[in-house]
Amino acid sequence: MSFASLGLIEQIAGTLASLGYKAPTAVQAQAIPAVLAGRDVMAAAQTGTGKTAGFAVPLLQRLVMNGGQASSNATRALVLVPTRELAEQVHDSVRAYGAGLPLRTLVAYGGVSINPQMMKLRRGVDLLVATPGRLLDLHAKNALKLNQVQTLVLDEADRMLDLGFARELDAILMALPKQRQTLLFSATFSDPIRALAAKLLRDPVSVEA
Ligand code: AMP
Repeated sequence: MSFASLGLIEQIAGTLASLGYKAPTAVQAQAIPAVLAGRDVMAAAQTGTGKTAGFAVPLLQRLVMNGGQASSNATRALVLVPTRELAEQVHDSVRAYGAGLPLRTLVAYGGVSINPQMMKLRRGVDLLVATPGRLLDLHAKNALKLNQVQTLVLDEADRMLDLGFARELDAILMALPKQRQTLLFSATFSDPIRALAAKLLRDPVSVEA
């Protein structure tokens, strides 16, 4: 199977080839067409399965194909992650997969100065990777509007709950449009994760590694 046969445009398939990715992983083969079709996704996937490209690649393509840019202080796609390390890692992957695409991306997490993040958000970003606490801080400072988010990704959702981010997640969800695409990635599917999925996802496609 090839990346192009999953519906990816030539430029993105070419980028993946240049990264040495010869064929999609199982998670990618299932997730990429579903995300491109605008479906919600519930994915059981650990690190090492290629899960990051599984959501980031089709998300980038949708942002490019849907055209238009986020208006100032707004973002079109939001990727929530539990830790700053994962935030950096996911954002590095987003930049690699989106090389050459006319999209603005940003990573934001706590423990560093908030001002540079606020400055970059002022002009709007297409895709924001963030940890929940810093995202809420930015939102509270009116540095960011969440009412134009078309796609929400929860990466490592089980770790997010383990780290006690349930309240932050609820607050963020309140600010997001009800009408949106939601992708939930988790290594494990405990009862709390199932409850979160039931609350967030509409008719999701199930993806397994
Ligand atoms: P992840 O599970 O997203 O953390 O990815 C694990 C590793 O697999 C990363 O180093 C990726 O660069 C790599 N990777 C992801 N997709 C592919 C693929 N289709 N072929 C080869 N390597 C890949």
